[in-house]
Amino acid sequence: MKEITVAEFDREVLNGGKVILDFYSTECPPCEALASKFEDLSQLYGKDVKFLKIFRQQNRNLAEKLGVKSSPTLLFYNKGQEFTSRLTGGIKRSDIILNLDSMLTADRVKEIKSRIKPSVSEFDIIILGAGPGGLTAGLYLCQSKINTVLIDIALPGGHVSTTHEVSNYPGFIEPQPGYMLSHSMSEQTKLCGTIYKVAVDVTRVDLEKKEVVIDEYETVKAKRIIIATGTTPNLTGAAGEKELKGKGISYCATCDAKYYNDKEVIVIGGGNSAVEESEYITRFVKKLTIVHQFDKLTANKQSQDKIFKNPKINILFDSEPRAFIKEGDKIVTEVENVKTKKRQKLNSDGVFIFVGMKPNISLFKDKLELDNWGFIKTDEDMRTSIHGVYAVGDVISKKYRQITTAVADGTIAAMAIAKELD
Ligand SMILES: Cc1cc2nc3c(=O)[nH]c(=O)nc-3n(C[C@H](O)[C@H](O)[C@H](O)COP(=O)(O)OP(=O)(O)OC[C@H]3O[C@@H](n4cnc5c(N)ncnc54)[C@H](O)[C@@H]3O)c2cc1C
Repeated sequence: MKEITVAEFDREVLNGGKVILDFYSTECPPCEALASKFEDLSQLYGKDVKFLKIFRQQNRNLAEKLGVKSSPTLLFYNKGQEFTSRLTGGIKRSDIILNLDSMLTADRVKEIKSRIKPSVSEFDIIILGAGPGGLTAGLYLCQSKINTVLIDIALPGGHVSTTHEVSNYPGFIEPQPGYMLSHSMSEQTKLCGTIYKVAVDVTRVDLEKKEVVIDEYETVKAKRIIIATGTTPNLTGAAGEKELKGKGISYCATCDAKYYNDKEVIVIGGGNSAVEESEYITRFVKKLTIVHQFDKLTANKQSQDKIFKNPKINILFDSEPRAFIKEGDKIVTEVENVKTKKRQKLNSDGVFIFVGMKPNISLFKDKLELDNWGFIKTDEDMRTSIHGVYAVGDVISKKYRQITTAVADGTIAAMAIAKELD
């Protein structure tokens, strides 16, 4: 592996055969997360592909000329031509391997893969998921001098990193951009000494043996596991939804309703959370339209009564969204009547989607006691039904899912574990 500057670019990259080039920056958590993977892969693929690094801040003109807009960015070259897709952000080892393999013959790839040696590392605690729940547990465990590793399939921060503004986390007078809050939480835990293995593929989880396999070949063992893997909002599947997430489409009323003072919004859904959240959203908006797929709401009777009495709320039954389109500051929701198949366009300032959240438990769900909605059941110390396995945050069975409640769960689990291991 070699560090280059702009002066060496032509020789090392354009005339350098097969090359992987890492544009990195300092004070860049995703760059730090990439560094050990890059080093490790250079040992494996280094005879076939040249591994180069270039400091983006000092070679800014070259970065701009090549259209490199974020750090880290990995570029791949073959005989002076850029080859295969660029990788950026929280880069996974498996994605780099995929690109490297595409530059080599199948036989050579097979030979390289045969040299991969599985590794095993041991810790006291594995925390799966580095959102607020996992990060807080990591902080408390680290401060108790308990050897802890945090494993996340993405970069640390969880949902908070993608939340526009957080105004209800105590200790901050002004609302905080979500990415800043999650960055501070993550740095605090890392500074304490917790080991991070982030932007990895979690290949296998064995809760009974307390073993997690990451990136296929690395086994991490521990005495205890904390599951802090959070939830994923269900999507409606309508066109444009993924693109407009965070840009007019929201999945959290507590977080975003206040930004729609005196505006008009659409709510998709008709169950308890859609109806209760709609009631809350009308504290801010002047008009709210619920779009619900059935001819009756499925929320409990009490919540429904409130909704029907609320003059700001209008309900469109038997209707499903088919597309979300951004037009200036507005969002156009194309809605289809499921009975008549007639479509209409609804204009609004924003859309809230409440069609359920699913817990991220697909790797271990068969082993744990779950509630009727698939969330992990815990006792008051966050113990699950499997000895030595704890769960915290949004993934557990509970009534309120917020940053503060995830942080509280993480604290409780860590303190209970510290006492147990004492
Ligand atoms: C859009 C939005 C805005 C919100 N705004 C607010 C707000 O303003 N205030 C507030 O209090 N709450 C807010 N919330 C709720 C809040 O974000 C959550 O309650 C909180 O983040 C839960 O923390 P957590 O650690 O349990 O899970 P998460 O934050 O969901 O973190 C879970 C982590 O686990 C990782 N993970 C998932 N699967 C695996 C796996 N198999 N292996 C390893 N890691 C895995 C994920 O990558 C993620 O980093 C908002 C939620 C959303 C969706």
